[in-house]
Amino acid sequence: MMHAEGRPHNEATLARRVPLAQNAAMKTRSARLEDLVQSDIRRMTRECDRVGGINLGQGVCDLPTPAPVRDAAIAAIQGRKSLYSYPEGIPELRAVIARKLAEKNGIEADPASEIAVTVGATGAFAAVLHGLLDPGDGLLVFEPYYGYHLNAAILAGLEPHFCALAPPDFPITEEGVRAALRPNTRAIVVCTPSNPSGKMWTVEELETLARVAHEHDLLVITDEIYEDITYDDRVHVSPATIGGLAERTVTIMGLSKTFSITGWRLGYAVARPELLAPITLACDLLTVCAPTPLQHGVAAGFGLPQSFYDDLKSEYAHKRAVLCDALEAAGMQPIRPQGAYYVLADVGHWGFATAREAALHLLESAGVAAVPGSAFYRGAEGERLLRFCYASELERIQAAAARIVEFGGAQR
Ligand code: PLP
Repeated sequence: MMHAEGRPHNEATLARRVPLAQNAAMKTRSARLEDLVQSDIRRMTRECDRVGGINLGQGVCDLPTPAPVRDAAIAAIQGRKSLYSYPEGIPELRAVIARKLAEKNGIEADPASEIAVTVGATGAFAAVLHGLLDPGDGLLVFEPYYGYHLNAAILAGLEPHFCALAPPDFPITEEGVRAALRPNTRAIVVCTPSNPSGKMWTVEELETLARVAHEHDLLVITDEIYEDITYDDRVHVSPATIGGLAERTVTIMGLSKTFSITGWRLGYAVARPELLAPITLACDLLTVCAPTPLQHGVAAGFGLPQSFYDDLKSEYAHKRAVLCDALEAAGMQPIRPQGAYYVLADVGHWGFATAREAALHLLESAGVAAVPGSAFYRGAEGERLLRFCYASELERIQAAAARIVEFGGAQR
């Protein structure tokens, strides 16, 4: 085999390599990464592969990509639209995003100065942290949190602050939010619909947030990647539309979940020009731009009819019912989500000391992988919870549900 520079790659060359550990003086890990370990989500995936189980742990979303999105991306590649785009994305995509934001979210945004296409919602979040905050600034997250929000903040040198929300409804209270603030808190993260709880923030809760944010001059960073996956006629409300929050909010949205394109890495950030300019600069420095031909693909996706979104919702509602009913039948006490495609289930009564042990027990007994709740909590609350993801083909969800029901029967 030849390697990139044309020299033969053989075992003798590899054997002559000095192991890094012998270069004792060289640092092999940044201090910021020191406390970060591989997440339980990845670990459960590995364990699941080992036993050949059904993986309801990781939010993989392996559904087919809508044909117009796929075909427009293929056409863009064939048409050689393969160069860097502007760091803020191709104008055609920003134009359709602006129209969608106005029509669907009630957000007025200038496509030239208030929208940036990013490398996933993840890329948008990182660019916001690096573009608008400084090391040592405090960032408030609600617990249970999405691990990336916390860990990306740590990687950016920020100090995480926590506001714990109580299951099953996870309500936001003004006293709770105020009590969680510290003198250096500069920003609050709002994930609605939430991963992992499925909570959707109400208008009243967002008004509470607005009062606190204005009073303490806080930046609000939203993660609305699950805006299209909601249940029981609940309507997603964008925080930027409430209580004057638009002026201090960065709205982050994603395309991974709506179009089932988690590997394409496309999302977008929306904010007033004064906020968006440094975010765009950070995007440029971190990633140059989002994948250009794929931007053309998703631009076509914005033309999909309402029936696409209706089908998406009803298919996920069906999967939610299949999985939650099975968990209930097995005595695993699901907290039925209001949105997104995860369900937390309370298994505290199994008596395991940790959620990881409970997850391994379920995997070994039933062949179904879930994520230990501790991945979403600092403290003990997560140790009684497991998170299941139902972003998969219905047959897989049904097969997992059957195993869960059988497992529940055997437990009795
Ligand atoms: N935000 C939340 C809340 C998520 O759950 C996920 C994926 O699971 C992401 C962001 C990742 O988004 P993207 O693929 O757009 O980077």
